[in-house]
Amino acid sequence: MLKGKVAIVTGSTSGIGLGIAAALAAEGCSVMLNGFGEARAIEALRTRLAQEHGVDVLYSPADMAKPPQIRDLVAETIRQFGHVDILVNNAGIQHVAKVVDFPEERWDQVIAINLSAAFHATKSVLPVMLSRKWGRVINIASAHGLVASGEKAAYVAAKHGLIGLTKVVAIETANHGVTCNAICPGWVLTPLVQKQIEDRAAAQGIPVQTARDALLREKQPMLDFTSPEQIGALAVFLCSEAARTITGAALSIDGGWIAQ
Ligand code: NAD
Repeated sequence: MLKGKVAIVTGSTSGIGLGIAAALAAEGCSVMLNGFGEARAIEALRTRLAQEHGVDVLYSPADMAKPPQIRDLVAETIRQFGHVDILVNNAGIQHVAKVVDFPEERWDQVIAINLSAAFHATKSVLPVMLSRKWGRVINIASAHGLVASGEKAAYVAAKHGLIGLTKVVAIETANHGVTCNAICPGWVLTPLVQKQIEDRAAAQGIPVQTARDALLREKQPMLDFTSPEQIGALAVFLCSEAARTITGAALSIDGGWIAQ
């Protein structure tokens, strides 16, 4: 379905971003991977995706906290592939602490990577998408883009902001073949969430499995994690012709989290 299309997926060396990159590649899309990690593991991932799906896959180590590197990531993708059709703003980090204890530099980092990076990347890709009259911008927000939890001030502020940015981009591009939507996952068992589970288990002196069950029960009526593959399938749907008029939406995939 996406043969001939080119996607940038930020933060795609792990977790949800990797699930999305694999799902796009499986549809024939060329992919620019991005994110941190061990060089050999990333290279193995890049070749595996390319071989499994018969598509071109490249990698950029751009740091999403640094706007000049974000602009370079987009410019490099255009240099290598000729254009960009799909941008998935996925890179994200978390910090858990009460506002009174929240380290200022962590606030700045979370806002830079989870929110400002999406602005810089979108600003850089839109001219190409508009000139080609087709584009899909998909922002990976969160249930925390729609409702809050304690001890996550920067993350909740960034994700609410990301949904605001999604709506503005959707309005500005509405009649130019471009859509912009946010995906709002509940719990997905990735390294980002595994760390929160282990931190809770350590803090409360309980087994990791117990902490994992408690984490789900606290927020989701459905006591199960969404998988990165399921998020990938939703991203692919948003790139389809069937989703042509879905724009400015915040799509929950959260086991009923925000239904309560
Ligand atoms: P993850 O930690 O598995 O992956 C994060 C990715 O971002 C990695 O590839 C990492 O290398 C990359 N990254 C981090 N900082 C970066 C930077 N400065 N520059 C470039 N890349 C950077 O996390 P995940 O759970 O897959 O999260 C992906 C996105 O999904 C995040 O935006 C997160 O907020 C969102 N999300 C996750 C969940 C969940 O339950 N896991 C729920 C809702 C939303």
